[in-house]
Amino acid sequence: MYEAKFPKIFDHHNHLSFYLLLASSPSLEHTFAFKEARQFFYSLSDEKLNIVTGWHSDRYSLSNADLEDCPPLIVVNFCLHGFRFNEAARRILTEADIAFDPEDLAQSERIMPDILSFVGRSRPLSEAGKAWPKVREKWEAQGLYGMADMLSLYPDIDCGSFVLERWEHPQLRADWKPSEKTTGIKLFNDGAVGARTAAISAGFRGYGQPILTYSDEQLEERMRFCFKLLPKLAMHTIGDLAIGQALRVYESLKPQLEAEGIVPYLRLEHCQFITLEQAQAAKRLGIVLSMQPNFNGDSVDYYDRLGSSLGAVNNPLRMVIDKAGFVPGEDLLFGSDGMPSGLVNALQNALFPPYEGQRLSAEELLAGYKADAERGTVTVYIDEANKKVLSADQA
Ligand SMILES: [Zn+2]
Repeated sequence: MYEAKFPKIFDHHNHLSFYLLLASSPSLEHTFAFKEARQFFYSLSDEKLNIVTGWHSDRYSLSNADLEDCPPLIVVNFCLHGFRFNEAARRILTEADIAFDPEDLAQSERIMPDILSFVGRSRPLSEAGKAWPKVREKWEAQGLYGMADMLSLYPDIDCGSFVLERWEHPQLRADWKPSEKTTGIKLFNDGAVGARTAAISAGFRGYGQPILTYSDEQLEERMRFCFKLLPKLAMHTIGDLAIGQALRVYESLKPQLEAEGIVPYLRLEHCQFITLEQAQAAKRLGIVLSMQPNFNGDSVDYYDRLGSSLGAVNNPLRMVIDKAGFVPGEDLLFGSDGMPSGLVNALQNALFPPYEGQRLSAEELLAGYKADAERGTVTVYIDEANKKVLSADQA
């Protein structure tokens, strides 16, 4: 085992606002049984819309009907994709103009950010922000000098020297405008592997349903709306179907925008199941890929739903760099999605990935994370024999 010093990094995809909201919301993270979860729901307030996070849909299933006799309640899957709610919650959201059709799965993925935003706005910064000093201290110790908050609910948070990019999800109102501090706009185009809803053309082993949140026409309308407000747009696209759709729509939209004097900047987030052809098309269109080396681990952690054939093509970082020509730090950016944040996990996945096609050198990883030694350094321990990267506390 040897000791190594690494410069601090900028995490291009994380969720500051959501973690602040989580820190002040009840969670099912430590609940493993349906009965326990139900008991907990009865203890919640009848007076307000309750949001409960940390549900693991693979531990026990929950249906909307299971929540009917509980206080107004939304239960969100731990990966933020997939949720359950009761009629009392639906009524409150409808009054807030978040109308939804319980039968329409794609729509329920689409409005998840609106629901989080609604709950976030009802929890003022003065309350949610209490957790910030502790959260910041933890992230800095993990080696971050800044991050992109990919679902910004608290644009006014005082971040001091911690660099914060704010990416906002647009509300559905036609007169919606981003905050003045907002860097860019973010859309969610498919589900997630954790909820078995990522738009992967091969589908999932066992149960699961690949979901595209928009039709091509809806996506084009949404993208046009966003680009007219801010030239920077990021879109959550995990599966090849979502990536393919994004490329198809952008290819026809881009020249139209340019003709109107807009210089669009498009970032695709995650891109875990991007094909070589898609990567080449993205390169040609000048799209930036924002990928998460941490998700190399999905090939192992989600073997139950991906199997070995999808596991082997998950996060094809070598292909993206060596064959499609993306350059870490230029048009290929890295982030953690907070699962978990920090340098140790990023290095673990880059240096010791489940598949060779996912391997990154430390230099590539640091370039994609915009490492900056002037912001400070972090000491980590590399145990080549056991293929482990450890923090100072763990070593
Ligand atoms: Zn995310």
